[in-house]
Amino acid sequence: MHGLWDLVREATQAGQLRLPREDILFFATPHEEEVSVNSTRVTRVLGTDVWDLSFAEWTSRRQMRQIAEFLRRYVPGFEQSYVAQSGVQVGVRETRRVLGDYQLTADDVLAARKFDDAIARGAYPIDIHSPTGSGTVLKRLPPGEAYDIPLRSLMPRSTEGLIVAGRCISGTHEAHSSYRVMPIVMATGQAAGACAALAARRGVMPREVAVGEVQRELVRQGASLRPDLLRAKEAAA
Ligand SMILES: Cc1cc2nc3c(=O)[nH]c(=O)nc-3n(C[C@H](O)[C@H](O)[C@H](O)COP(=O)(O)OP(=O)(O)OC[C@H]3O[C@@H](n4cnc5c(N)ncnc54)[C@H](O)[C@@H]3O)c2cc1C
Repeated sequence: MHGLWDLVREATQAGQLRLPREDILFFATPHEEEVSVNSTRVTRVLGTDVWDLSFAEWTSRRQMRQIAEFLRRYVPGFEQSYVAQSGVQVGVRETRRVLGDYQLTADDVLAARKFDDAIARGAYPIDIHSPTGSGTVLKRLPPGEAYDIPLRSLMPRSTEGLIVAGRCISGTHEAHSSYRVMPIVMATGQAAGACAALAARRGVMPREVAVGEVQRELVRQGASLRPDLLRAKEAAA
């Protein structure tokens, strides 16, 4: 759930909350009367710089205390609430990633583009938390649609013997804001593993593995690929 915009505005105007975001996002947990609050945000820092990381750690812990106080003061039902735990360290949304044989773009995501060498698919919107200030951009795919992730986005340009998975695959900042979410990074991880195993079994480089073989293995394992993908390939063979 996310919301509490009015209360966040009120607390911000009263100088009791200093967050570069305009809402509070929280999820139920398996424990009654416990919620997981995902609402700190630190911008204008580099996740590859140790000084920036220390600053982000300090800022986000200060924000966490402010949010806890805000919930107790402003939100009915939270009067007696307290922080049970937090992340062990600050989480970094995005830093460097590989430049691959194909770079997935915002247009691919929003047009729900299909690729012959698809090894995973996603439907999560483009969800950019401004890296420089407040604000969130949310752009959805057409309802019921999904975009493909091509195996080429997992293959680093001009490098052999390496497959990249998860949030480090090749894509633009905008596309990354969609494919970085956990179900999709798990799917690209599974695809990278299947491709690596096939390459090792045959004694070849990952690029030399036929994409159809990777796709068949993924379908055998129960991965979610476009149902027409293999049928079309088999019909053409
Ligand atoms: C604050 C925050 C909130 C988020 N909220 C959500 C959300 O609500 N929903 C959602 O779906 N996604 C969310 N995400 C995104 C998602 O969690 C990540 O994009 C995703 O977990 C990335 O997975 P990954 O496997 O690519 O990388 P990681 O999960 O970072 O895994 C990489 C692993 O490699 C290990 N590693 C690094 N270097 C080495 C090394 N040299 N040797 C061995 N191991 C190494 C690391 O310790 C780590 O365990 C959020 C991310 C952040 C930062």
